[in-house]
Amino acid sequence: MIPPGKTLGVLGGGQLGRMFAHAAERLGYRVHIYEPSTDSPAAEVSAHAVHAPYTDLESLEAFVRGCDVVTYEFENIPTEPLWRLENAAVFHPKWQILEVAQNRLREKTWLRKNNFPHVRFAECEAGGDLAEAIRSIGLPCVVKTADFGYDGKGQQKVTDDLSLGRAVASFKGQRAVVEQWVDFKCELSVIVARSTAGEMQCFPVAENIHTKHILDFSILPARIAPGIQAKACAIAEAIAERLCLTGLLAVELFLTDRGELLVNEMAPRPHNSGHWSLDGCVTSQFEQHVRAVTGLPLGDVSLTAPAVVMVNILGDAWKWAHDKCVGEPDWAAVLGTPRAHLHLYGKKEPRPGRKMGHFTVTAESTEAALELARALKAAL
Ligand code: AMP
Repeated sequence: MIPPGKTLGVLGGGQLGRMFAHAAERLGYRVHIYEPSTDSPAAEVSAHAVHAPYTDLESLEAFVRGCDVVTYEFENIPTEPLWRLENAAVFHPKWQILEVAQNRLREKTWLRKNNFPHVRFAECEAGGDLAEAIRSIGLPCVVKTADFGYDGKGQQKVTDDLSLGRAVASFKGQRAVVEQWVDFKCELSVIVARSTAGEMQCFPVAENIHTKHILDFSILPARIAPGIQAKACAIAEAIAERLCLTGLLAVELFLTDRGELLVNEMAPRPHNSGHWSLDGCVTSQFEQHVRAVTGLPLGDVSLTAPAVVMVNILGDAWKWAHDKCVGEPDWAAVLGTPRAHLHLYGKKEPRPGRKMGHFTVTAESTEAALELARALKAAL
């Protein structure tokens, strides 16, 4: 066990690192951040920050040697420096898990090989025959880049010959994954924590609504049958176990009309769809992450209200004129509502699509929470 007072290192300095640092420091840990850019949400609230590229082995080694355990707040970190340094510090989770999660093709191949339910897919090597891969899956389908994709970036839906031609032209020379298009009933996510002792705790399943491929609302509890909830948790726990994970794992799933659950993506870190837990759960996902990687007992994951809704605040909520930002959102309504909690990430430059913050509301029913959340979002 790594007791409070010790130093936790985080690779990555985004908002997930910032909220991790808040939770860790509350428990008495010191947090060190390693982040290439000099202006980062996490460095601002941490005891120490190093700004250097992930590939700068000397800086990275000095950093990890100064930490009692090292974890991550995003998975797209080059793994070569990590395996070179694997004996220089304790890393949770291990770099092998990042390697699976940071590449869609490896991730999907891993799911298939380990018999976890996933969306039917075909791979297309760089320079391979994408049209053939698309034909093998059938229309409609979606083509995604194999590497470093998130929030719908590098994705194209293919519905007919015209969009097929467009996809072939724009993915030319790239490694890609072709996935069957799923007409899902809803999107769900589950976050599971697994500690150094192998103890596991699954947060309640979130129902997620995406707009333009980016998470917009998370609704807790998800409006699904208890059997589906249990099945989603069982899938996430089995994946965490199979990966020998220590830390957090977020698993995003599609629920089909036939009641099937299909894994879409996994991320071995705190997740946007778990932000609700800061205000609607006994233990937040960030505190749970701290507990898992330090070997503290895991915390209770019960909801603290009958319904919780989280709303992402993107740069789009700022006032724009001719592509120039001309003003902030109006925070008055969200700040003036007792059961709403505003979280801003301290990012200086708003951009459309950029995650700037979020807010949560709690209420006696899902309908009431959603209605309030929508009204507060509109009032921004
Ligand atoms: P991703 O970047 O893979 O998480 O995709 C972002 C969003 O695009 C998902 O949350 C879904 O809303 C949508 N999406 C991705 N893949 C599919 C698919 N195979 N079928 C239907 N919708 C999808």
